[in-house]
Amino acid sequence: MGLAAVGKEDTLVIHEIYASIQGESTFAGLPCTFVRTTGCNLRCTWCDTPQAFYGGTRMTRAEVRERALAFGTSLVELTGGEPLLQPGVIPLMTELCDAGRTVLVETSGEADVSRIDPRVHKIMDLKAPGSGEVHRNRWSNLEHIGPCDEIKFVLASREDYEWMRDVICEHQVSSRTPHILASTVFGALSPRALVAWVMSDRLRVRVQLQMHKYIWPSEMTGV
Ligand code: SF4
Repeated sequence: MGLAAVGKEDTLVIHEIYASIQGESTFAGLPCTFVRTTGCNLRCTWCDTPQAFYGGTRMTRAEVRERALAFGTSLVELTGGEPLLQPGVIPLMTELCDAGRTVLVETSGEADVSRIDPRVHKIMDLKAPGSGEVHRNRWSNLEHIGPCDEIKFVLASREDYEWMRDVICEHQVSSRTPHILASTVFGALSPRALVAWVMSDRLRVRVQLQMHKYIWPSEMTGV
């Protein structure tokens, strides 16, 4: 194919493709292939994947799809960085669904999720104040969240917890999806404190640990 014929959806810049277990969502613990794209337009204070901000390898969408399928897991997750910054991710997810995979996308909550194939499970962050990016939440995205999607809060403090509690109530998040995930910033807020607050308020959220942080040292990638 000549360069002139290559459209903006035909190639992607990829940080890594690898298989491991899914670490945080209702799919946690299951074997999964991860397609990690390069680039993010946010800078969360506690980001644990800054290595994915820059660099990467440009690949054709077909190449990415075939490499992801070759790992042979029934679950495939698009993650980053922010995968939705690259237009080719939308058709890639549809192709992976067509190939019979269960497809997840982890997104920051800033990028528009309205064009995502309805078969894809969206795992969408709502950024709490401690992230430094609370002003970037695109609230209209909630209109596109359904019962198979998941809303995730990563909390660094009691202030973040109270913010989450207010958001769930004000935006009626539970009426959109039963899957509301709450996890702590590793080393900043103890999971034990979060559990105590959740139980005290009888808040219907699923407390999660970032499983991979307990299994592998922080400097390891591709796990
Ligand atoms: S949105 Fe995700 S990848 Fe981007 S800075 Fe925040 S935590 Fe890091």
